[in-house]
Amino acid sequence: MKSIQVILSALIVMTSTSACAAEPKQTVDMIVEGDYLVSMDAQGTIINDGAVAIRDGIIVATGSRQDIAAQYDAETVIPGANRVLMPGLVNGHTHTAMTLFRGMADDYDLMTWLTNYIFPMEGRFVDPDFIKIGTELACLEMIRGGTTTFVDMYFYPEVIADVTERCGMRAIIGAPAIDFPSPGFKGWDDSFAAAVDFVSTHKSPSGRVTAGFAPHAPYTVTPQHYAALAAKANELGAPITTHIAEDQAEVKTIQERYGTTSIDLLNKQGAFDVTMIGAHVVWPTDADMEILKEKGVGPIHNPTSNMKTAAGFSPVQKMISKGIDVGLGTDGAASNNDLDLWEEIRMAALIHKGYNADATVMPAETVLQTATSMGARAIDMGDKIGSLEAGKRADMIQVSLDAPRLTPLYNVLSHLVYVADSEDVVTTIIDGQVVMLNSEVLTLDAQAVKAAAVAKSDEIKAALAQAPAE
Ligand SMILES: [Zn+2]
Repeated sequence: MKSIQVILSALIVMTSTSACAAEPKQTVDMIVEGDYLVSMDAQGTIINDGAVAIRDGIIVATGSRQDIAAQYDAETVIPGANRVLMPGLVNGHTHTAMTLFRGMADDYDLMTWLTNYIFPMEGRFVDPDFIKIGTELACLEMIRGGTTTFVDMYFYPEVIADVTERCGMRAIIGAPAIDFPSPGFKGWDDSFAAAVDFVSTHKSPSGRVTAGFAPHAPYTVTPQHYAALAAKANELGAPITTHIAEDQAEVKTIQERYGTTSIDLLNKQGAFDVTMIGAHVVWPTDADMEILKEKGVGPIHNPTSNMKTAAGFSPVQKMISKGIDVGLGTDGAASNNDLDLWEEIRMAALIHKGYNADATVMPAETVLQTATSMGARAIDMGDKIGSLEAGKRADMIQVSLDAPRLTPLYNVLSHLVYVADSEDVVTTIIDGQVVMLNSEVLTLDAQAVKAAAVAKSDEIKAALAQAPAE
């Protein structure tokens, strides 16, 4: 009896095998290959000589190149010899159009930089045309460097959304709101109504743009307004992003004004009962970290900006060890001064080792997670993006290993964290659309975008020559 069963099972296996072999191949839109497929899934799967099949903007399957080729036919195949195939990078905090203020005010602490330079400059020069040109420049730079998703906080969000749709990127765009007469914010006194209007009415034709709220910070927005926006965000199912616990000046101001921390203050307004993306979080107390964990707040680490404005060193390793999903961001190009997430990856991997005098802090894989899978969870998009897995949106990049500095290769994660940079990214795919191929951005005219940015900066230089900044 037993032997018959064995024979039967063997037959079933044989039958299913032969049925499988006879099955026609499925047609997909695209197959993308890589000598190393770094999936960034929960198991940290890396497939040597791997491939991804894409249909209707979604990853249908991942596997070895051979297996994918055996199962799927595609009109477009992007070969992956000497390339790493990995998820697109997630920039959890930026102010895109500040690219046009790049290099205008360096070497000031955060509050001096903001109050004496950035706010006045924004008041003089920011208008819809400035935002369009600055955002196009930012998207060009981000696509070039393999960033596929960004979280933005800047003026004229409808203009930012329009550029994002056109250039094919994925974004959460926060409508800014502030509670004091900042010279940089025309219509500041109407900013809450305008933000509610934007988030309530915005429709993304592609589904790639999510509208959200972006109250500036606890020292520029009242607790009452945080509470009101949280209620509205809850009603609309919209995310909120805000600067929080960024530097010691903020810690002091909030303590003096409200007798508590920024994180405790916002939590008490219900601001963490919705999706909250907290930019910076450099100075959380232990009690604050418990709140972040319990409420699922996603802190975004901005190492270059934090060092440049002398904001401090965020306890990222401690937050991650507590189970908090931390993302990575560049901040705006006026405090970075670029939107290169590879630089942030390297900074995040290095500065905490030095600061803590402990080389085991922020290991390569953890840092890479903050820019991909963990970073996606930090902005509440972990179910859609951040890893190469069947069912997720097809956001991915190919990183070339051709450069001499990437040779030889023993450990692919090591190279991605400690060597690779934005120039090594050769292919960028977002939602199944190829937006950069062979290092050439296809959705924006790079020469025209750069020329418009130069022309705008000439206007700004001429205006400053007439009436210099104070
Ligand atoms: Zn910022």
